[in-house]
Amino acid sequence: MNDNPVRPIPLASNVMRLVCVALIMTLGACQKPSELERTVRGLQEAARSDDTAWRLLDGLTSSVGPRMGGSDGDAKAVAWARSSMEELDFDRIWLEHVSFPLWERRSETARLLGPVSEPLVVTALGGSPGTGGPLSGEVLHFDSLPELEAADPGDVNGRIVFISERMERSRDGSGYGRTVRQRSKGPFVAARKGAAALLVRSVGTNPNGNPHTGTISTSEPGSPVPSAALSHPAADRLEQLLSGSQSVTVELDLDCGFNGLATSQNVVGEFDGRDGSDDFVVVGGHLDSWDLGTGAVDDGAGVATAMAAAKLVADLPERPRKDIRVVLFANEEQGIHGGKTYAGSQGRNFYRHLIGAEADLGAGRVWRFRSRVLPGAEAEVEALAGLLAPLDITWSKDRPAGGGADLGQMRKLGMPVIDLNHDARRYFDLHHTADDVLENVDPEDLAFNVAAYATFIYWAAESTAAFGPVDPSD
Ligand SMILES: [Zn+2]
Repeated sequence: MNDNPVRPIPLASNVMRLVCVALIMTLGACQKPSELERTVRGLQEAARSDDTAWRLLDGLTSSVGPRMGGSDGDAKAVAWARSSMEELDFDRIWLEHVSFPLWERRSETARLLGPVSEPLVVTALGGSPGTGGPLSGEVLHFDSLPELEAADPGDVNGRIVFISERMERSRDGSGYGRTVRQRSKGPFVAARKGAAALLVRSVGTNPNGNPHTGTISTSEPGSPVPSAALSHPAADRLEQLLSGSQSVTVELDLDCGFNGLATSQNVVGEFDGRDGSDDFVVVGGHLDSWDLGTGAVDDGAGVATAMAAAKLVADLPERPRKDIRVVLFANEEQGIHGGKTYAGSQGRNFYRHLIGAEADLGAGRVWRFRSRVLPGAEAEVEALAGLLAPLDITWSKDRPAGGGADLGQMRKLGMPVIDLNHDARRYFDLHHTADDVLENVDPEDLAFNVAAYATFIYWAAESTAAFGPVDPSD
């Protein structure tokens, strides 16, 4: 008889302990995974080896390419989206007309005239009027928009204003929100001060010398001055010259502007759930892009992720309870036109939207999520946190989810939302530039994001919780 008090633990017990520890980490208790958890683990595994999103993104960027709202590329994108949904066997597909002012970019150049003569790399801001031929003027420098807002109009009058605030790179992309005002509001403030034109340092972090376009505000009162974004090297050069004692003169020649009305379409597809009700979970992205690249990350990645994740869930042996709706919004970039039209047309269908999530922050891996649900549904969101934990995605409770640009319009009416936050560090190198192309998307990151969105979709479509309506004023 062995009376040694320290007995070796049999191998099977060690394995059981390891399994138990793993489950404690994900489930909070040592218990068998539920049916929901097993299904989600299977979905996450399947997503990581599924190339549907990559094939969709390859198709959209190579067969359609740039698709600015109202352009020929935009119309091709709508046809592509419809036929792609047909190929993925969506149960219903329809289009919703969206009208908006058509803005066109024809040509854009800028150069320093003094104290040296050399070209400057610029791109017109969306919604900017043209200069009506070459426009030259002395440059007046401001470090930020508030500085321009505080300036004496007598000093600004007739000058070309330059705002040079630099966007900081961060995982949560918060630097964008802090600097985008110089692009969106700057053209109107410059006009009110009597400026002839506006140059801004690009709002983004592109390291390759390409400028970032982007729209000016569609809600600001008054008319904007002709406005363009300088690449970072061009902005650095201008700042360097402006720090000297000589005055700096620039010539700007923008041929761009509005040209009547255009119509595009929101493309909507649904997969049926198993319970026979018409209630659904909604995921979306925007189909349009800017014209400088092929819109691979903005927002081809979101379009491909939403479609592929919905398809993965729909292809389970048993459909989840509720329907899954995918909305590919028209012309988000130039004023959220598709999102506003969609929110305006839902009417009695509003309450069929159980909860939504929008993919419009590129192809970096999702690392965090936020929620906006009724307080009584927070326990259900804890379950989502448990399901996303194996992907190292954590629930951030610092503030409620916003719903994104397009689905945020529904959130403002009370639709509950989840934000799956993508790592935005690389996104803002590419955003609205000529570098927004497929080569700058990592297929493994894209597949990872499909796993995250499929988890959200399945969790929400299987849930019986009442997530909303949430307080629209919140
Ligand atoms: Zn976007």
